[in-house]
Amino acid sequence: MILIDCPERIACDVCAVVCDREVILIRQAVTNRPEVVNEGNCRNCGLCVAHCPGQAIFLMSDTGPDGQCRITLPYELDEAAAWRQDLLAVDNRGNPLGPARLIRVLRSERFNNTCLLEVSVSGSIASQVRGIGRHG
Ligand code: SF4
Ligand code: SF4
Repeated sequence: MILIDCPERIACDVCAVVCDREVILIRQAVTNRPEVVNEGNCRNCGLCVAHCPGQAIFLMSDTGPDGQCRITLPYELDEAAAWRQDLLAVDNRGNPLGPARLIRVLRSERFNNTCLLEVSVSGSIASQVRGIGRHG
């Protein structure tokens, strides 16, 4: 599932442009908010996540039998530190939601110098996760 948390009407259409599957659409004016229109066409490539200048796009898996869900999010800080620390999932105001476990770091020449983190979080908080913080 693609989560887009882009509430402002800003002049940006990067997500729609980078998606070659036409999953994300911005209708008519560039200031319109992006819509997910063909989610079944999404190949989870992460290009929209990596290229969004507002870090406003996330990929979310289904919740597994263990109650955990995988979230893919952009990350521009030290990924080595991310491996060392106990991570905390935070919402779009930086409020802590619960623990997050780093699964893998995704890198690509097509990601515009941004890496993507795939983290495991409780399915009960997954749709609210917008970033990763540290404990303490
Ligand atoms: S993950 Fe890839 S295919 Fe899916 S919406 Fe983003 S750019 Fe398009
Ligand atoms: S690229 Fe990001 S900031 Fe720009 S319209 Fe899409 S979701 Fe919003």
